[in-house]
Amino acid sequence: AGVLHVVATPIGNLGDLSPRAAQVLGSVAAICAEDTRHTRQLLAQIGVSTPLLALHEHNEEALAPRLVERLRAGESLALVSDAGTPLVSDPGFRLVRAAREAGIRVSPVPGPCALVAALSVAGLPSDRFVFEGFAPAKAAARREWLAALAGEPRTLIFYESAHRIHAMLADAAAAFGGDRRAVVARELTKLFETVLDGTLDALVARVGSDADQRRGEFVVVVEGAGEDGAARLAEGRRVYALLAAELR
Ligand code: SAM
Repeated sequence: AGVLHVVATPIGNLGDLSPRAAQVLGSVAAICAEDTRHTRQLLAQIGVSTPLLALHEHNEEALAPRLVERLRAGESLALVSDAGTPLVSDPGFRLVRAAREAGIRVSPVPGPCALVAALSVAGLPSDRFVFEGFAPAKAAARREWLAALAGEPRTLIFYESAHRIHAMLADAAAAFGGDRRAVVARELTKLFETVLDGTLDALVARVGSDADQRRGEFVVVVEGAGEDGAARLAEGRRVYALLAAELR
């Protein structure tokens, strides 16, 4: 059987594509990509002309069995997303699961990942952290969702888009308290890379007053709740467990 290679690609700087990623992309029978036009540009830059197959949220479930058939028949395939590591806020989980269930070898070519890149420069506790992906788009849902994370003791990592970064930071300040420390990592590895740190209140003000700081792609890293927050979270869980037991 073939191998399914899960290949990380750059999050901005083309120089971050590893030599092994380039070699694998050039040697497989086909590359499953989120956006084939986007990936074709990347391949053109490294002189690779491997056939591309569109694999996205909407067709992944349907396509996975056919791809597994090709793998079983001996073809090796690569999976990439538009940027960074596949499966991290990106498609691929269903295909990887289907391949594993079929006994196909799934092998990573690790590389760029925005959440890890942001954490590595944030200067916030990094021994334990939680990745929460994108906050809900609608304000009411986002506020409720953030409120539920307020007692989390681990460092929190979020992805955010340009049009919601300011609202998300303001809602985070309201939910976590404006004096909580945070980092806004923007356009990592790109020309306008900026890493801002400060309290949530200060970051809301900074991002709110400078339109340039609302352009591009963002990772928000927030320090976890202190001892108090952790204790509140533990107490909340204890009460919840008691209630759940009562209601059973
Ligand atoms: N799979 C990707 C990874 O490994 O990081 C993430 C894909 S997710 C759909 C895209 C989000 O990742 C963006 O909205 C942004 O929050 C974050 N992101 C991607 N590239 C970034 C960069 N160069 N700088 C900051 N954030 C980035």
